[in-house]
Amino acid sequence: MRDFLNNPDQFLRHLQAAGYTGVPPQTIARCPIWKGACVEHLTQLKERLTEVHNLAGASALLGWDQQVNMPPGGAIHRAAQLATLSKLHHELFTAEETGRLLEAAEAEAQGLPYDSDDASLLRVTRHDYDLATKLPTALVAELTRVTSLAHEAWAKARANDDYAAFKPWLKQILDLTLQAAGHLGYEDRIYDALIDQYEPGMKTAQVAALFDELKAAQIPLIQAIAAQRGRIDNSILKREYPEAAQEAFGRMVARQLGYDFERGRLDRAVHPFTTGFGSNDIRITTRYESRWLPGSLFGTIHESGHAMYEQGSAAAISGTPLEGGASLGIHESQSRLWENLVGRSRAFWMYFFPRLQAAFPAPLEGVDLDTFYRAINRVEPSLIRVEADEVTYNLHIIIRFEIENDLLEGRLSVDDAPEAWNAKYEGYLGVRPPTNREGILQDVHWSGGMIGYFPTYTLGNLMSVPFFDKAVAAHPAIPDEIARGEFGTLLGWLRDNIYRHGRKYQPAELYERVTGEKISAQPYVAYLRQKYGEIYDL
Ligand code: ZN
Repeated sequence: MRDFLNNPDQFLRHLQAAGYTGVPPQTIARCPIWKGACVEHLTQLKERLTEVHNLAGASALLGWDQQVNMPPGGAIHRAAQLATLSKLHHELFTAEETGRLLEAAEAEAQGLPYDSDDASLLRVTRHDYDLATKLPTALVAELTRVTSLAHEAWAKARANDDYAAFKPWLKQILDLTLQAAGHLGYEDRIYDALIDQYEPGMKTAQVAALFDELKAAQIPLIQAIAAQRGRIDNSILKREYPEAAQEAFGRMVARQLGYDFERGRLDRAVHPFTTGFGSNDIRITTRYESRWLPGSLFGTIHESGHAMYEQGSAAAISGTPLEGGASLGIHESQSRLWENLVGRSRAFWMYFFPRLQAAFPAPLEGVDLDTFYRAINRVEPSLIRVEADEVTYNLHIIIRFEIENDLLEGRLSVDDAPEAWNAKYEGYLGVRPPTNREGILQDVHWSGGMIGYFPTYTLGNLMSVPFFDKAVAAHPAIPDEIARGEFGTLLGWLRDNIYRHGRKYQPAELYERVTGEKISAQPYVAYLRQKYGEIYDL
């Protein structure tokens, strides 16, 4: 709050946004000029959006501290602090004054080039503002109340394998979500309104078509691999890998990939994540298990991918709502690109495997590169999404997407949902959950009201391959550079083509600008067939 108190004008605006009417409205005397036209409203809007952005950054910092540093006793204070900041943020952003300035600024900015920072800021702000203001305050409050209770109920239900205890909460969340979708608006499918919150502009029919294509190709591939089960042994990864050495190795890899520790840091957290408070302070976390090497190793590379994307926003949009990532799907395309296409490639380990062996001489004694490469790419159909490998992961997502749509559109009841879940696991992955705990109760998302979120994981996988292929087409030396531990050309290309734009373009728009194509499942399928055909001798 110190920043507000040092700036009386800002503080006054916060008071007014919060409904305080004791002070007469301020008059702004100056009128900035752009190409001979007055852009007074655009300037005022930017000032307001910067404050909104700063409040969000402060909340994120409190959230980071909560998961990394805070003593357990601090939870009660932290919840109150976060509630205050989020109230200020919501009030300032959704105030009528913001809407008035936005409309006036849109009129002022007519004729600006589409790609310009100002025109892009207005497009992004319009999308965010409409999302934030379309929902009635009472519905937002009810969603907040129900999801916080539902989260507790879900955690307990999962621990006790008791779907019946979670069912009424799921029903209530679905009802509220249907109401929310009605307010947000959609033309074709209910889900369109929901996915738009995470993947702006994406349509359900397009996702369904991509997923059908993917499913038709992946199910036979998974069956062929399953027939080779036992061919690859990954027990070398479950030997003793001391945590301190894991951390040192992870830091070395992240630095070498290009994650900038001058503008970031790596800490421990129970659930690994990336967060940021502006492109010059993007932090990552990981967790270590001494008897499972891939967890922190690939987790650190994954989060570094998210973080390098955010660190790469152009300086001109730093500190504005345009910095950051275009969508969750584009974000995941970057974490997956670095984790899987780079970090699980043979070329990458040609350089790093001797270094890994030097860091862990005992568990890797006598292990050769090829054995290690196969072990980190072992495929195993399983019940739990977060433990799934590169090949089976998408099926976990497709199952959730189909069930969410069936529930929302009335083809499936909450009573029948667990059986539908289990039947799909059996049909697509050849495994049947023996309990709901390992089935429909495993994910946190629905209890938090996050319906429409899951597809972004698979969209990220699908987009990662054409992005990588495009970079290699522009710079054919990239694979050889990776084998020498050099990543500057790849990172530079990603910065120039994707990272610097921040949130300027909608995901499908950015994808088409970079690749020249519409999103398709085929490049990803071809990549899987090639890589795993070789590993499993198919
Ligand atoms: Zn991720």
